[in-house]
Amino acid sequence: MSSGNTMNQYDLVIGLEVHAQLSTESKIFAPDATAFGAAPNTQVSFITLAHPGTLPLLNQKVVEYAVMLGLATNCTIRSYNEFSRKNYFYADLPKGYQISQYDTPVCYNGYLEVAAGNSAKRIRINRIHLEEDAGKSIHDQNPRYSYIDLNRAGVPLLEIVSEPDLSSADEAWQYVSQLRQLVQYLGICDGNMEEGSLRCDVNISVKPKGQTQLGERVEVKNLNSLRNVKRAIEYESNRHITLLQQGQPIQRETRSFDANNGTTFPLRSKELEHDYRYFPEPDLQPLFISETYITDVKNKMPRLPKELVEQLTGSFGLSFYDATVLTDTKETALFYLDTVKHTGLYKAVANWLIGPVKAFMNNVGRAADSFPVSAERLAQLVELTDSGAVSFSVAAQELLPVMVQQPEQHPQQLAEQLGLMVQDDGNAILELVEQVLAQYPDKVKEYKKGKKGLLGFFVGQVTRLSAKRLDPQAVNNLLAQRLNNS
Ligand code: ADP
Ligand code: MG
Repeated sequence: MSSGNTMNQYDLVIGLEVHAQLSTESKIFAPDATAFGAAPNTQVSFITLAHPGTLPLLNQKVVEYAVMLGLATNCTIRSYNEFSRKNYFYADLPKGYQISQYDTPVCYNGYLEVAAGNSAKRIRINRIHLEEDAGKSIHDQNPRYSYIDLNRAGVPLLEIVSEPDLSSADEAWQYVSQLRQLVQYLGICDGNMEEGSLRCDVNISVKPKGQTQLGERVEVKNLNSLRNVKRAIEYESNRHITLLQQGQPIQRETRSFDANNGTTFPLRSKELEHDYRYFPEPDLQPLFISETYITDVKNKMPRLPKELVEQLTGSFGLSFYDATVLTDTKETALFYLDTVKHTGLYKAVANWLIGPVKAFMNNVGRAADSFPVSAERLAQLVELTDSGAVSFSVAAQELLPVMVQQPEQHPQQLAEQLGLMVQDDGNAILELVEQVLAQYPDKVKEYKKGKKGLLGFFVGQVTRLSAKRLDPQAVNNLLAQRLNNS
């Protein structure tokens, strides 16, 4: 393994090919259902099986989805599109070819921005093209046979190909998570990497620092989590550097990642383009995308994270950090916007969503969009704590869990029922303070001799005596005043 020091003598060059499975109801060229998790080979029509005489018919929805992603990634949308056949033999590809796009990808020349140090770095997107998925070969269920599930054959994919502009595992992580966030916001792919809805192939090469010519590259296939993207890049770049230092050549090849031990192993030597004998698909007409169509799609598109971050930092005065966390998922962002329709406490609502609400949902293992409390009720809770009527910690730890159980109730009503309202009557607190100080004369003496840490003990005693909730700060102040002034 190379040390961090030798790492510095090399540039890492990474290009990503990301496949996003589109969440259409039916396949790209056939009416079969696409739902994930159905019994094997139950979503397979004659078209998918490539029976003679069957013909593909393009699902219009996938065109709309492709245009959306193209616009969201700053691409140019191509008006004249052809489909092509990519020929190869494999048991999970009944037709013997995959319908894809070759020299007319529907979107091209785009970019995404990642943070590199303190500045934004543009990662160019070479192309986004449409294609169909292959079936699934299952090798681990029977020692003697492989099984084939063709449910996935013909599911629509967008392949997003970056230029080799990424230069670290961290940049690759940002790029893929941004793409995932975009497809989720657009509602065109669920972005679930574990289930294979978003799959990532990583192309990696290294070269001596400053050299312009790129090194020989290796492709690592089908990484199914962001973490594995990162691990594969780290392992592979170290392997390359070690080879180069030993004076050995890098083989151009396709490798697979072994998630159990974080290493890669060779799958096959890389196919060259001519191996696929691409030619225009004769069974499909060219696809024409008009300017009007693009404008219509643009007008239908939901607002994207970047725009929402601008709104949250601009109109609501949130920090860039808070705005980024809140827009991480569309559900949380929309919930924030809903909540601030009911209250002007923009920053407090952000604190609640990023803090207690998120923590609570994490604990119960649910996503933010299944938070049962309405935006209006959350706003009421925020106002209740902001006014000091319930202390923040009590509201977060005791009131919120009950609200989740009884979301139809006004939080103030619940707080009253549960005795969580802050006792704001200073005289009542003072009475309790006197009672406690009389009860512990020895501790009062110790405190006065300088054992100031006892204040917390007194606060605890006062709080315990009260039937109602006390504002810990008020108790603290009154106790300190009384102890220090006598
Ligand atoms: P192929 O025909 O082998 O698929 P492409 O030109 O389509 O090659 O590139 C595939 C991916 O490999 C792209 O994401 C591209 O950015 C990346 N890539 C190309 N050359 C290199 C290199 N030298 N090092 C790292 N990545 C590379
Ligand atoms: Mg390629």
